[in-house]
Amino acid sequence: MKNVLGLRCIECKKEVPSEAGTYTCPSCGSKGGIMDVIYDYQEINRMTTREQVTNSKDNSIFRYLPFLPIHPESARPHLRVGWSPLYKPQGLGKSLGMSNLYIKDDGQNPTASLKDRASIIAVIRAVEEKAPTVAASSTGNAASSLAGSAAAMGIKSVIFVPSRAPQGKIAQLLIFGATVISVQGSYEDTFRLSAEAIDRFGWYNRNAAINPYLVEGKKTVALEIAEQLNWEVPDWVILSVGDGCTIAGVWKGFMDLYSAGWIDRLPKIAGVQSTGCCPLVDAFLEDRPWTPKEENTIADSIAVGVPRNPDKALNAVRESGGTMVAVSDEAILDAMRELGRTSGIFGEPAGVTGTAGLKVLLEKGIIGADEKVVSIVTGNGLKDVQNAIKAVGEPIKVEPSLKELLVKLEGKI
Ligand SMILES: *Cc1c(COP(=O)(O)O)cnc(C)c1O
Ligand SMILES: [Zn+2]
Repeated sequence: MKNVLGLRCIECKKEVPSEAGTYTCPSCGSKGGIMDVIYDYQEINRMTTREQVTNSKDNSIFRYLPFLPIHPESARPHLRVGWSPLYKPQGLGKSLGMSNLYIKDDGQNPTASLKDRASIIAVIRAVEEKAPTVAASSTGNAASSLAGSAAAMGIKSVIFVPSRAPQGKIAQLLIFGATVISVQGSYEDTFRLSAEAIDRFGWYNRNAAINPYLVEGKKTVALEIAEQLNWEVPDWVILSVGDGCTIAGVWKGFMDLYSAGWIDRLPKIAGVQSTGCCPLVDAFLEDRPWTPKEENTIADSIAVGVPRNPDKALNAVRESGGTMVAVSDEAILDAMRELGRTSGIFGEPAGVTGTAGLKVLLEKGIIGADEKVVSIVTGNGLKDVQNAIKAVGEPIKVEPSLKELLVKLEGKI
């Protein structure tokens, strides 16, 4: 990989080579020592150009291969990950009073969430490192996407999920042939047990914060947003936050494009959590270190009381001049309804939390009605039908009789 210079610790700034088995900073050790992948931008510009990428017929994240930490000739799963649509939904724009609103629908990935962008990199690297088994703990989507990518590459996956994970996600795991461990405890308990087991068995570790290569997969959502907007950077990108890897990836993507000279400015990044679990929003707004929180929200994918990538996430928001906000579960269900009804886009609760937050930031005047805003829908609503029904209620029940239908429909259409 001539494009990758190595890994740099986000705390002590130490640089180490990118080698199999090195994930965290050897100097910072147990304190965390989360790393960033660093690139040779001149080399990237020798390997490709903006025009070459724009003309690429590869409708997946691999159109950006020179920006990724994998060997160009490595085996890749056949799944089409990335290149999800960037819509400008008129209905939602009107409903929110915005003239320049875009939705990046990342529910349209092979396993229906943005996590596929990270998992496919994990599996490619696991095969590069000759690991027969990949493992992860997850609130659900990282798990189902890892299992999907592993199935596509013919390697085994072992997945730890908290007992509260929605059934749709569990079904995906089992369909993809994963060994599924349902931990009777919180996400924190789940993460801890998976880390112990990964240590004990020597599996390839997909846990996103620890593994710096996964954020590199997630950053492709930013590369796509920039390209889909003709390399004209939006004013804001807004999305939900759990562990913090996704928001960190979005920022890394824009920073890489900026460093390579492909864009000439950077967006502000806004991160949204549920009021039922918002350790990072509280830390940001009160300008203090984060503290653990209970996991008390319907948005299971971001119910993360002990975030695993807090520093990268907070750095992304601060460096970009962005902000953070928390929204109630009711506001999340409202956003789910509004997106569906005005635009035909169906997101899971954590998938629409960014859009719920956008509404609040508009009302507060932090985001302007005419600013160019991209709200990322991070996961598809079919993963969690139970909460969707909560948002919209039951259908109209009738006997098979036109007479009864006419009565029931009166005043309704
Ligand atoms: C994982 C996930 C997030 C949050 O990503 P983090 O890296 O944990 O911050 C948001 N939405 C969905 C649908 C997810 O699966
Ligand atoms: Zn360090």
